[in-house]
Amino acid sequence: LEVNFENKPCYDIVIYDDFSDLKNELSKFDIENRKICIVTDSNVAEIYLDKVKEELEGLKVFTHIFEAGEQNKHLETVSGIYDTLIFNKFDRKDILLALGGGVVGDICGFAAATYLRGIDFVQIPTTLVSQVDSSIGGKTGVDFKHFKNMVGAFYMPKLVYVNINTLNTLPEAEFSSGMGEVIKHGLISDKDYYYGLFENHKKILSGDIKALADMVLTSQKIKKEVVENDPYEKSQRAILNFGHTLGHAIEKEKNFSLSHGVCVGLGMLAAFDICIKKNKLSEDDRKFFSDLLEIYSLETGTDIDVEKVFEATFNDKKMEAGQIKFVLLNKIGDAYIDRNVKKEDMVEALKSIC
Ligand code: NAD
Ligand code: ZN
Repeated sequence: LEVNFENKPCYDIVIYDDFSDLKNELSKFDIENRKICIVTDSNVAEIYLDKVKEELEGLKVFTHIFEAGEQNKHLETVSGIYDTLIFNKFDRKDILLALGGGVVGDICGFAAATYLRGIDFVQIPTTLVSQVDSSIGGKTGVDFKHFKNMVGAFYMPKLVYVNINTLNTLPEAEFSSGMGEVIKHGLISDKDYYYGLFENHKKILSGDIKALADMVLTSQKIKKEVVENDPYEKSQRAILNFGHTLGHAIEKEKNFSLSHGVCVGLGMLAAFDICIKKNKLSEDDRKFFSDLLEIYSLETGTDIDVEKVFEATFNDKKMEAGQIKFVLLNKIGDAYIDRNVKKEDMVEALKSIC
């Protein structure tokens, strides 16, 4: 897949079933003459770092490992990367490799965007979330105090290299979390893909490489198309936030005890309620969707304090001039932005998932 921004080819996304093509893919960037720093987290390092280093044998490879987890997605971790780069005399022509999930990609991308005002970086996403979502679109950054993704930059990688087989070591809950975004992609823009996620669920859940690769590729195409048309989220990119307005609020109210994908699933299920009231979706659509969530081990209900979730919704950064840009579906596979969703509708929607 070639990702274009402002109508210029920007970078490629390639999908393989191992790391053996990595050196060859990197050779396009005159890699023999550049230092490489692999940035990864403690979990991914344990499983994949040796393999990746082996593939890059003969090149000038350095590594920077930080403790895994969202709680480490902050400026000190970025600062640790700067230290490694300065200590090893990295200059502007050198390159970073982000090996890991969205946390590694967001942190490493932000370090790349800011070190010496910008050095190249390549994404090697190893979670479903990072393969279908965070490695595409150029958003990088870290959390600040208790604000998620509060500090960051739009900064494009040079290449995204996916080894689909990395999904086979991913903990089940992390896979499910990614499925929340995958299902969202179908719902907002491709009904055949959406129904296919039901038809092919046995293959997908059993780790069938071909089924997984097809799924990742389709999701990447959907995200790519949306972000290419609106890279800085001025308008239409917001449809990617389907399920996220209420989803984020649920995530906060639950003190992040539920995964992001679970909360997005619940947020989408609540949004279905509003769509049904607007005669855009049917009860059958809702039943099918909630069955699909269950198939992929996502929740279809939770106990929440509706008023609290509602307040959190209004503190979300996706607000614009006091108005919520609420994403709804016209029908399965077709999303639109609705600025007139009323408080009562949202409260009712939240009650529908309690
Ligand atoms: P993550 O990076 O924390 O990875 C989840 C867990 O899986 C971690 O413990 C990690 O060490 C481990 N792991 C990674 N790959 C593995 C593998 N192949 N086998 C076994 N374990 C593995 O989380 P994530 O879900 O990948 O990403 C979430 C982050 O991405 C959040 O910080 C979120 O804000 C960000 N995000 C960014 C964007 C964007 O556009 N930039 C989009 C979506 C999400
Ligand atoms: Zn999301």
